Amino acid sequence: MIDRYAVAGNPVEHSRSPTIHQQFAQQTGQHLDYGRLLCPLDGFKATLQAFADHGARGCNVTVPFKFEAFEMAARRTPRAELAQAANTLRFDAPSEGGWLADNTDGVGLVRDITVNAGVALSGQRVLLLGAGGASAGVLGPLIEARPAEIVLANRSFDKAQALVDRHADWAAEHQVRLTARSLDNAGQAYDVFINGTAASLSGGGVPVGPGVLRPGTLALDMMYGPAAQPFLQWARDHHALARDGLGMLVEQAAESFAVWRGIRPDTAPVLASLRAQLDAPLNRTPSP
Ligand code: NDP
Repeated sequence: MIDRYAVAGNPVEHSRSPTIHQQFAQQTGQHLDYGRLLCPLDGFKATLQAFADHGARGCNVTVPFKFEAFEMAARRTPRAELAQAANTLRFDAPSEGGWLADNTDGVGLVRDITVNAGVALSGQRVLLLGAGGASAGVLGPLIEARPAEIVLANRSFDKAQALVDRHADWAAEHQVRLTARSLDNAGQAYDVFINGTAASLSGGGVPVGPGVLRPGTLALDMMYGPAAQPFLQWARDHHALARDGLGMLVEQAAESFAVWRGIRPDTAPVLASLRAQLDAPLNRTPSP
């Protein structure tokens, strides 16, 4: 029987993950099928259990189930534990210890910044906007990259503070200054600015002023496709290096693939082919 995987979420119809994983499978000679699993908002657990009971080997998890996925697993990797959210599940048998939850968003983001964009994080000042599932997943690996400072700013300040509190020991261990701020006091002239809010997705514009940028700042929106365009234009207008979330998407997928299959695909050709597809006119908004 062919090994089956899927991206589980709501919505999932526009997800690029099946295309990415099919390309990874071809490239590495792995025989697998990767589809989409639309889960009712009140039926994530049941849908996933049925998928696993029918022999599936694992899944990616997207909005809004990353926290629920984390709760469901018998075992969690340290990076999932820090995030308290999972974007990757491996349906290991009970005799193997049970389901494993992982979070590959952060390692994907860091790899996209440092390898694909060629921008160093070490010693830099970083502004991360948002305190939802995506920011929870990336904060730990961002700290591991040892910037001098990370400011986490969010519309709901309490959520930013809670995330910062949870990562305080990790930040101290890596000698990173980590603080929570409100959006209207986000600070000035960062080296790296990461928008991990859903503002672009909802057409809400950039939630902070251009003072957070300086010429040459890497300004990265986790969104990609048409919905990311206003952010990218704003960044270019203010002489920043504009980047969308497509590279992060491909890199987190490669890490998930490695968790399932024990082999890491080459992301460069897959990112190039997706970039070419996205540069063709699109009239819909993809989700991770
Ligand atoms: P969540 O729904 O968990 O969190 C949303 C966050 O955005 C919250 O911090 C929320 O603030 C904030 N927010 C929403 N709307 C606005 C607004 N108009 N102005 C300011 N802040 C706002 O979403 P996720 O964290 O899971 O995802 C965030 C984004 O990242 C999405 O666009 C998603 O598509 C993208 N993403 C991309 C990935 C990739 O691989 N490229 C991977 C994962 C996510 P508050 O707490 O105040 O509500």
